Amino acid sequence: MYEPYKIKVVEPLPITTRAQREQALRAAGYNLFGLRAADVTIDLLTDSGTAAMSQDQWAALMRGDESYAGARSWHRFLDVVTETFGFPHVIPAHQGRAAERLLFGALLPTASGHTVPSNAHFDTTKGNLEVLGVSARDLPCAEAADPAKAAPFKGNIDLDALRDLLAGSRPVPLVMLTVTNNAAGGQPVSMANIAATAALAHEAGVPFYLDACRIAENAYFIQQRESGYEHTSIADIVRHMCSHADGITFSAKKDGLANIGGFLATRDEQLAARARQLCVVSEGYPTYGGLAGRDLEAIAVGLREVLDADYLRHRIDSTAFLVAELQARGIPMVLPAGGHAAYIDAAAFLPHLPLLQYPAQALLGEIYLEGGVRGAELGTVTFGLDGTTGHEQPAAWELVRLALPRRVYTRSHLAYVADTIGAVYQRRHGIRGLRITEQPLVMRNFTARFAPATTSVDTAAPKVYQGT
Ligand SMILES: *Cc1c(COP(=O)(O)O)cnc(C)c1O
Repeated sequence: MYEPYKIKVVEPLPITTRAQREQALRAAGYNLFGLRAADVTIDLLTDSGTAAMSQDQWAALMRGDESYAGARSWHRFLDVVTETFGFPHVIPAHQGRAAERLLFGALLPTASGHTVPSNAHFDTTKGNLEVLGVSARDLPCAEAADPAKAAPFKGNIDLDALRDLLAGSRPVPLVMLTVTNNAAGGQPVSMANIAATAALAHEAGVPFYLDACRIAENAYFIQQRESGYEHTSIADIVRHMCSHADGITFSAKKDGLANIGGFLATRDEQLAARARQLCVVSEGYPTYGGLAGRDLEAIAVGLREVLDADYLRHRIDSTAFLVAELQARGIPMVLPAGGHAAYIDAAAFLPHLPLLQYPAQALLGEIYLEGGVRGAELGTVTFGLDGTTGHEQPAAWELVRLALPRRVYTRSHLAYVADTIGAVYQRRHGIRGLRITEQPLVMRNFTARFAPATTSVDTAAPKVYQGT
């Protein structure tokens, strides 16, 4: 489908030479986080906070009421959030992770040693639990294990594993589901799985929350794939998803179509009161939560626009288009196409590289050199190092993620991305691995520096390089 919008403001793309890119990549230590955006032509690093706002959002900014308390903008935001999701209590926050901290701080202050399960926790969710001494447990469904296997709802939680965990001896104070499942390839969760998860949690007397960052995209997949919902509007599916939950955390940088913002929404009045207290201490007065009035306005408009069926059809079609174009060039992809990103199986793309020579990271550098396209690593660099012991092992999956910012790139940009990666695929046998020259022990994917591996690619034994 064609873009359901036309262009009113343009931002020129930086167009660079291969020599410039070689220099930039070396200077960045082969870590694409270290590049200047001005050296990147097509930036698919993340879909977070990178959306293009609509004319109505830009117009709404002018209405921003910057009153400290009880601003008009807060009330417009509150009305849209309660109507969209159906929860009576809303606490704004500057990002999704801040909303997580408010939820966990209010709900789990003494839960050290407890376990919180999810289909797959996002890394900030996991981090916010772990700082409280709570263990974050991922329980993905069986179909999620095979990247190439197409199934309609690979984001589902494993209900049997959840049942066992709830019956076990370790206390479970909260059950979560991430929709769509970011860590598992942007795959959706079915309404049936949401309802069954809620039932198990509630039978066990445990609250159930959604990490709802991409709830509109998930709702679109339910409408397209789950029987009984083909004639239900996206707005109704979203409310129905939420009707099973006790509350949600939300990052407005994803399906809020805004560049910043988030919130916690809940039915639990006492929890909301505690979260508001935490909000005053760390985010701001609970009618702005670390956001400017104009940010609240942009989110309020964005939440309406993101439920539009034409917007969502184009959005999900774009991701499917990119995946299909890459597949047509022989590139091994995670299937089926998810919501917000295309995922390349880098281990299958570069089977001659040992996993401890970081094939996904090496591939990212080659894609950048080829055409100035920036993606992100979701593999051994991101997940392979145990920050407490310093022990390194290959991650379960070795993926390159190409995340699509909302309403930013057109079909011809995506075709260019496919051509760029297709050209890299043609010369894949000559691609060398990387070694780490410096790294921190925690979240090294952001700041680690690399150099080309010194051993020959065919004979190199996997080797653990500890940072300096
Ligand atoms: C981005 C994201 C978050 C955190 O939101 P921020 O606004 O980046 O803090 C939480 N969960 C999921 C699934 C996300 O994708």
